[in-house]
Amino acid sequence: MPQDELTEVSRAQKPAARTSRKVPRIVVLGGGSVGLYSARRIRKRLGGREAAIVVVDPRPYMTYQPFLPEAAAGSIDGRHVVAPLRRAVKGVDVLQGMVTSIDHAGRRVTIQPESGDAYTIRYDHLVVGLGAVSRTLPIPGLAETAIGFKTVEEAIAVRNQVLNRIDVASSTWDPELRRRMLTFVFVGGGFAGVEAIGEVESMARAAVTYYPELDASDLRFVLVEGSPRILPEVSAELGGYTLDQLRKRDMEIYLSTFLSSCVDGHIVLSNGQEFDADTVVWTAGVKANPVLKESDLPLDALGRVTTNAFLQVVDAEGVVVPDAWAAGDCAAVPDLVTGGTCPPNAQHAIRQANRLGENLAKSLRSAEPTEYKHKNVGAVASLGMYMGVAQMFGRLKVRGWFAWVLHRTYHVMAMPTWNRKIRIMAGWTGALFLRREVISLGSIHDPRASFRAASQPAPAKAEPAKAEPAKAEPADAAAEPAANDDES
Ligand SMILES: Cc1cc2nc3c(=O)[nH]c(=O)nc-3n(C[C@H](O)[C@H](O)[C@H](O)COP(=O)(O)OP(=O)(O)OC[C@H]3O[C@@H](n4cnc5c(N)ncnc54)[C@H](O)[C@@H]3O)c2cc1C
Repeated sequence: MPQDELTEVSRAQKPAARTSRKVPRIVVLGGGSVGLYSARRIRKRLGGREAAIVVVDPRPYMTYQPFLPEAAAGSIDGRHVVAPLRRAVKGVDVLQGMVTSIDHAGRRVTIQPESGDAYTIRYDHLVVGLGAVSRTLPIPGLAETAIGFKTVEEAIAVRNQVLNRIDVASSTWDPELRRRMLTFVFVGGGFAGVEAIGEVESMARAAVTYYPELDASDLRFVLVEGSPRILPEVSAELGGYTLDQLRKRDMEIYLSTFLSSCVDGHIVLSNGQEFDADTVVWTAGVKANPVLKESDLPLDALGRVTTNAFLQVVDAEGVVVPDAWAAGDCAAVPDLVTGGTCPPNAQHAIRQANRLGENLAKSLRSAEPTEYKHKNVGAVASLGMYMGVAQMFGRLKVRGWFAWVLHRTYHVMAMPTWNRKIRIMAGWTGALFLRREVISLGSIHDPRASFRAASQPAPAKAEPAKAEPAKAEPADAAAEPAANDDES
């Protein structure tokens, strides 16, 4: 049922959420780092009689993306890297749906819910925190073969795929097929790609110890990076150290190399290498959310909403667009410390969100806003269990176990809600005594498969041949390697 006014939607869902249109309505687009932290800060500063806040996101939770590599490795439970919006931000309405267009001149956004017709809601003030999406290229086979690494669903799918391939390969006699199953390709050598391959390889190495048929040397992990170095977020020295560490673990790393094709899992690299792989993970960069093109907000050449240092949306001449605010990966926010615009990372997104919340609250009280100015505290990356690199305050370079501890400490403190912090730390503590969990739940991606099979009408029974008594052959059946592929 199309709906034109949010109050109608809210009334049906939750009587307490009724809001009079005399109260200014702030609509926050995206419930990620920017959405959660800005909504929380605005609610902290403004009471229910001063502002109604609505957060719109297709997912009912915020994902803390820096923990996705650890979720893929099973060091953190997938549910614990997300913060449920309704619990984490009290006193706001959460609308589950995709924003499909923004008409700021008319102060309205259109939302497509998962089921049912699209509807529009009106607002007085807009906060844009729509983040970024994977930046892909028109590479043959990429869309059909590869998986991204931006959401918790993708991270868990990568984990299940890798463990499932190990399971199935251990029961495969064909050496070509086994090699293909145990070859894992990661494209992109930035933070996301390096942390993802480091964590997943470390998990796969731990997993094969449970398979007498397999050896760690059967695993082939390949990282493909288009530029001449990895980890551009840290110094060349730390990037070089990371490269050495990954190569010491027998990972193949190809620099200044591009993925040319991956049709049906046949990998072709620009350096002439060709091989087969069942798993391709794409982490080669992000771009601003494309839905911003369906808006009348000013965008820069990279498709990001342009803002001033107060996080107010501004046009190309720097003139403030009234009642519009933006931050995070989807925004071009001036970096008052180093010049240019702030890089897309969680460190900036969370701090910008808090500043934006303060400024929006101030503007509603006719107070002066404050500029966003943040000196980068550094970068920390995990390369798998007990290994990491960190560059703090520009100059301090840390590597190995201590950097890994810094990575965990920094990110668990940045993870929203004490509930999640405690659950994550409890999981890490448990793993110290109980060892890493390496079970694959491959069939979780098709949970109805067994039920479908059970619902098939039984095939008509063939007449038993008179001379041969019907006899089950359990030993032979158990020896059939592909018999339970679907269940692994
Ligand atoms: C694997 C990985 C590792 C990372 N590691 C680090 C790290 O170590 N350190 C660091 O600082 N940064 C790291 N980052 C980057 C960091 O996570 C992002 O910069 C940060 O999350 C950006 O916050 P945001 O709010 O702008 O976007 P997001 O947190 O991505 O939030 C955007 C939200 O918008 C929602 N959305 C999207 N489209 C729509 C739509 N049409 N309608 C409504 N809602 C929509 C999404 O569902 C999402 O909830 C990492 C990122 C990844 C992927």
